[in-house]
Amino acid sequence: MGSLESLNPATGEPIGTVETIEPAAVQAAVDEIAEVQPFWAELAPADRGRYLERAAEILAGDVEEVARLLSSEQGKPITEAYTMEVVPTVDGLRWVAAEGPGILADRPVKMGGGLFTGKRVAHRLEPLGVVAIIAPWNYPWSIPFGETAIALMAGNGVVLKPSELTPLLGERIRVAFEKAGVPEGLVRVAQGGGEVGRAVVESSVRKVFFTGSVATGYAVGAACAERMKGAVLELGGKDPAIVCADAELDNAVAGIAWAGFANAGQTCSGIERVYVVADVAEPFLAGIRAAAERLAVGDPGSWDTEVGPMISEAQAAIVTELVDDAVAAGAERLCGGPVDRPGSPGSWIAPTVLAGVTHEMRIMREEVFGPVLPVVVVEDEEEALALANDSEFGLGASVWTRDRHKGERMARRLGSGMVWINDHAYTHAAIQTAWGGTGDSGLGRSHSRFGFYECCEVKTVSWSSPRARDFWWYPYDETLGRAVRAATGLLYGGAGPRIKVLREGGGSLLRTGARTLRGGR
Ligand code: NAD
Repeated sequence: MGSLESLNPATGEPIGTVETIEPAAVQAAVDEIAEVQPFWAELAPADRGRYLERAAEILAGDVEEVARLLSSEQGKPITEAYTMEVVPTVDGLRWVAAEGPGILADRPVKMGGGLFTGKRVAHRLEPLGVVAIIAPWNYPWSIPFGETAIALMAGNGVVLKPSELTPLLGERIRVAFEKAGVPEGLVRVAQGGGEVGRAVVESSVRKVFFTGSVATGYAVGAACAERMKGAVLELGGKDPAIVCADAELDNAVAGIAWAGFANAGQTCSGIERVYVVADVAEPFLAGIRAAAERLAVGDPGSWDTEVGPMISEAQAAIVTELVDDAVAAGAERLCGGPVDRPGSPGSWIAPTVLAGVTHEMRIMREEVFGPVLPVVVVEDEEEALALANDSEFGLGASVWTRDRHKGERMARRLGSGMVWINDHAYTHAAIQTAWGGTGDSGLGRSHSRFGFYECCEVKTVSWSSPRARDFWWYPYDETLGRAVRAATGLLYGGAGPRIKVLREGGGSLLRTGARTLRGGR
């Protein structure tokens, strides 16, 4: 067993240490969770919900402490720690607890009056067992917290592998559930780097909920497929925003600035491409530049700070490389770029707006994951849609227009998992809505009823009368053949042929009916 030190990205100071797990010890930890999980699964969903309601109440009282930890371990402004992560998880717990029992309830299946008359069938959602949640550093609280809440509500045990950059928050998630009385050992945290993540995937967990980079996502998906287990993959993004000529411009500027620069742009569904229609390009560019220049970059612990440090020097270097590449290829930097904050060893990038960007530049194709908005001026909405869809990613997209019908028409044509009209990305905080992408942005969905389904095995349970035998059982003979032919005409044919059918096959039908009731030949 080793240890992992957590550093504050703004100050570089250590803020805590956790024990790591050896990859070879991961299976034993999963086995221990598997011993506790069946007892949890025995509880009725409504009873499990009571634990989650209690967790919400306790967390509501701990909000300040968790938000401070989040801001100091990850570097996001304290306001965002509240608005984008901690408070939404309190709200989310309440939704999961309230709606979970209904979503998890057995669903009777309408069998209709045809072939399967008399059968009583239901779909039952059963827990998978122990599931793995492997988390990134950028939303290190809300992503694994929401997934853990839904997995628990569905009756599973959880092994959580937090990012090695935010281990204390991972530990705090376990504590949040245990404080509410969730059995000790039902949620275990496996601390460490990629090798621990790999061991978790290769263990006997039934499913992996992975959020992270595309490259790791492919590796996790392949490892799961080899072991016949499922994976939900929430990967990178390159979200476009389309500003139509009829956009409410001030609002579009404010919303796009927020969705591009929040969390210092380190958001999977942050806006990374802006397509603005030529008619409004000039005022939009002036507006977005002014909005970017107004933002306060600084100490994430201060209420006034709007942009904190980058998570690491390496992440800042990627951003700088892509911006420099665009500028070298002819883009114009309207504002922003790396800044020095004397006495502060973190890496800081002031919100950056690029004009004169073209579709071929790397900055329009690769994930930047920094506070940068590259803006492309397009002729019209058609061109914007074509460019927006020309990407390997498909997480989110937004359309900024006053015309709701047009927005919804455009939403249908955007190839992404989520489309927001006059907003962007906010539904990650609304756990009642499905989250996930297409293409390289991943597979499956988290949150919402669809996130519940990902945490369950669907079992079809059918009741048949013990006295009646099905007509398709043996023996096969001409009587059965004629009866089936007649039944097809009667059940599915039009009114005209029915009389003919009855005349020719009525006798066989009656004999077959009697046979099914007699239970023999
Ligand atoms: P990452 O892929 O480097 O790491 C993610 C997690 O996987 C970490 O806990 C890491 O330790 C673990 N890991 C690394 N190698 C592993 C392996 N071989 N097997 C199993 N686990 C392994 O990603 P990151 O840098 O932490 O996160 C940033 C990325 O996450 C960005 O690309 C971002 O777009 C994406 N992201 C996506 C969403 C979404 O909802 N789609 C949300 C947040 C972040």
